[in-house]
Amino acid sequence: MSLMKVSIIGSSSSGNLTYIEYNNTCILIDAGISKRDAKIRNPLINYDKVNAILLTHAHDDHIKRLDGWMNKSNINIYMSKHSLGVLTKRGYYFKHIIINENKPFEIGDMSILPLLLSHDMKCFGYFIMTKEKNLCYITDTGIFPYNYTTIVKDSDILLIEANHDIDMLYESERPFSLIQRIISDKGHLRNEQTLDAIESCISSRLKKIVFMHMSQECNTKDCIHNNIVLKSSFKGEFIFSDALKSTEVIEV
Ligand SMILES: [Zn+2]
Ligand SMILES: [Zn+2]
Repeated sequence: MSLMKVSIIGSSSSGNLTYIEYNNTCILIDAGISKRDAKIRNPLINYDKVNAILLTHAHDDHIKRLDGWMNKSNINIYMSKHSLGVLTKRGYYFKHIIINENKPFEIGDMSILPLLLSHDMKCFGYFIMTKEKNLCYITDTGIFPYNYTTIVKDSDILLIEANHDIDMLYESERPFSLIQRIISDKGHLRNEQTLDAIESCISSRLKKIVFMHMSQECNTKDCIHNNIVLKSSFKGEFIFSDALKSTEVIEV
């Protein structure tokens, strides 16, 4: 039996990078952290084995270190046509493959389905299916995409955004326009929304849930513990990603 190995090298508005390995297929989701920093954060991973990068969307925290990862010519970058437009305007040039929501494609031993999310820029979540294990990745969305619940329930591990605590967000120094953007249907999930999403996705298959893209100013692990973990009926393992350090290699 092959295990899927997952490591969240970093996840927050300051930079996102997730490593996923199954058999000889090694991919990244997003490129908001440099290869050099990734090696420091998690030296157990051989980043030279990465075959492909899946971009969720072209906000800076997801793409800003892409150029460093592209030095290796055999990496394919998968993205929406919209993301390509943004990157091209910024002067990037690289080998790319355009993907569309709800249209599955293959990379090595993985079959990947892009999920359309609700964000202020076209943004994909991903359902990654292998012979044995499935993973679902959903961040940067103002509304949880309940239309995909059946698919999410077929995951062994769910990586889901728990962006902010609503009280902390209102009490923050952030300009009101930014607060409105974050809480809108095209912003980010607050803890209550993440709890509701988790409750609707619990299944006998789902064993691990990772909290992603937590705001460094407007959320804490304690808040998530009190408002999601303690209130949820999920009986599996909850794992926290971190803005500044990598998780261990999570085996699924
Ligand atoms: Zn983001
Ligand atoms: Zn974003």
